[in-house]
Amino acid sequence: MSFELKNLSEVDIEKIKRYIEEERKFVEKIISGKIKKEKKELVRTVLFIVESPNKARTIANFFGRPSIRTFGGIQAYEVSIGNRHLIITATKGHLIDLTTDNIGLYGVVVAENGIYPYYNSIKRCLECGYQFTEYQGPERKCPICGSTVVDDAWERIEALQKLAQEVDEIIIGTDPDSEGEFIAYAVYLLLQPYTKKTYRAEFHEVTKYSILHALDNLREIDVNRVKAQMVRRIEDRWLGFSLSEKVQKIFKKNWLSAGRVQTPVLGWIVQRFLEYKNSLSYFIGIKARKINLVLDLDIKDKTKLNEIIRVLQNAKVVIKNKKYFEEELNPLPPYMTSTMLQDASNYLGLGVDMIMQLAQDLFEAGLITYHRTDSVRVSPAGIQVAREYISEKFGEDYFKPRVWGEGGAHECIRPTKPINSETLRNMIESGEMEVFVDISPQHFALYG
Ligand SMILES: [Zn+2]
Repeated sequence: MSFELKNLSEVDIEKIKRYIEEERKFVEKIISGKIKKEKKELVRTVLFIVESPNKARTIANFFGRPSIRTFGGIQAYEVSIGNRHLIITATKGHLIDLTTDNIGLYGVVVAENGIYPYYNSIKRCLECGYQFTEYQGPERKCPICGSTVVDDAWERIEALQKLAQEVDEIIIGTDPDSEGEFIAYAVYLLLQPYTKKTYRAEFHEVTKYSILHALDNLREIDVNRVKAQMVRRIEDRWLGFSLSEKVQKIFKKNWLSAGRVQTPVLGWIVQRFLEYKNSLSYFIGIKARKINLVLDLDIKDKTKLNEIIRVLQNAKVVIKNKKYFEEELNPLPPYMTSTMLQDASNYLGLGVDMIMQLAQDLFEAGLITYHRTDSVRVSPAGIQVAREYISEKFGEDYFKPRVWGEGGAHECIRPTKPINSETLRNMIESGEMEVFVDISPQHFALYG
């Protein structure tokens, strides 16, 4: 509302009267229910919470230059979109984890009517890097090195609780998988006393379009996905802790650990190796004048092998038929997590943890779709990206869209923009594109 002083002679009294009259009628209509109230709804303040500070920064910068506040170890970016004033911030990953206190079975009480996991805020020692939930002693020390310099997620929880009191509603935009859903649920429980409404926004790529789409299609927290994650974590504890104790005892090394997933996988690897050892057999390579041949006769016995070689030494190779043909090969399906890991490990020689970290960064920078997926579906937005890229690079004729996978929200791993690694690098280096994550040559290698 603006306010200014004017001479009475300059003012059109009749016009002002008409305006007041119209406003009065409008208010009467609202009161009598003829006009729905939301038509005049004011700007809503929304706390938009994601898990990674990179993601928060990337999202904030889609909507102009955000103003930044820092407190309680978190940064909050403020931007306005339409009738929403967004305060965007990050939890910095998980806030709570199962307690390591001596409660129940490794932090989980098993009762007749169910299981009751006990949680505490996650602490990380800034001296030795150890992550834990229970301080040692009243001095609040790291249980490994005794340091008191500890990052406690409780500080972030309190900061979020303060922010929650400033806003009309909360929207949680953590990653679209069960772990992200669990973080969303934890945030919901911790902030529930301070706010009226909490919603979940699900997006599989950090682009302006998909953020706006997610904000217009909010949902409730998916409790079944949360339960799945809770049970998975409890299994980690129950199986992991008890297996580790066994392994440590057998090998007399107290730093060894065995996990819920590692242990059966290691079993399969051992089994596969034994099968492979039993299946070893000889093959015979033949060098003729112009071609090399391989005879795979599945021979395991060396005397039999030598016998065959003796016979073959005086043999002739005769080419009876010669044929040229062309074969049309279809492109492979789009990447999902497993195939991306295989190729990145084979072609780039990177380890699994490294590849996943690079992919996480690319996702948070808004460059690729979510990288934890078992879907090969390509969304209409993805097909559009392919159309633009192929049309520009090879010509429209080469664009032949194919349908992959089933419907649903999940997608393959693909670029969000129709640009290759080289163009991307040029755009970032020239400042034409701004990304809010440090991008290294390895990021470009994985992207390409
Ligand atoms: Zn420590």
